Amino acid sequence: MIGCILLAAGSGSRFGSKKQFMSIKGKRIIDFSLEVVESIDEIDEVVIVLPKEDLDVPIKIDKPFKKVCGGKERQYSVYNGLLQLERCDIVIIHDTARPFATKKMFLDGIQNVKFGWDGSITAYKSRDTIKEVCDKKVIKTLNRDFIYIVQTPQTFDYKKLLYSHQKALSENFLATDDSALMEKEGFKITVNEGSFLNFKITYPQDIKLAEALISMQQG
Ligand code: C5P
Repeated sequence: MIGCILLAAGSGSRFGSKKQFMSIKGKRIIDFSLEVVESIDEIDEVVIVLPKEDLDVPIKIDKPFKKVCGGKERQYSVYNGLLQLERCDIVIIHDTARPFATKKMFLDGIQNVKFGWDGSITAYKSRDTIKEVCDKKVIKTLNRDFIYIVQTPQTFDYKKLLYSHQKALSENFLATDDSALMEKEGFKITVNEGSFLNFKITYPQDIKLAEALISMQQG
């Protein structure tokens, strides 16, 4: 069985409000993810992680789904979702703040994990040179050939991800994505093809970018 956790429990501290419920061109940001997940036959169950004060928000998806409360950090929100999917062998984690994730990104991740990888993360090779900088002083330049920009969806072996989360909890280890928890335990993670366009809506100006992209897609 394959489960999917849709994360929508952010408080929007950098954005200034809960962006997941904002509409872009008449569609709520969260609905973009619900639509793509609904279109994927391989996904059997969905967990939508919401702020505790928004559990009554309307959700429309033609698949079995549950709503759960988020945690204080993204990682705790994922863990709350994982506890609802104990029947699954494979789990996909997706940030609903990324409305432009494609069906192919989900399917490629599923295929890689079915093939034997412990996890598969959506990522693309950096277009830019990345430098390590501390207090405005450049420390070093990283070799761009080995640098990937990481996104969601991220797909994992369910039991191994649950183990990695429980281990991290017991050690008070916090990471910004789930792959980092698996990497720490030595699990083997691969990448599936991401896109510059699968950006995360983070700041208010990103809404304009999203609107422009939708207009372009609509031709
Ligand atoms: O804050 P940021 O935009 O990086 O969050 C990434 C995703 O994680 C968003 O979809 C957000 O709703 C979700 N999140 C969550 N619980 C938190 C923090 C973030 O579900 N405590």
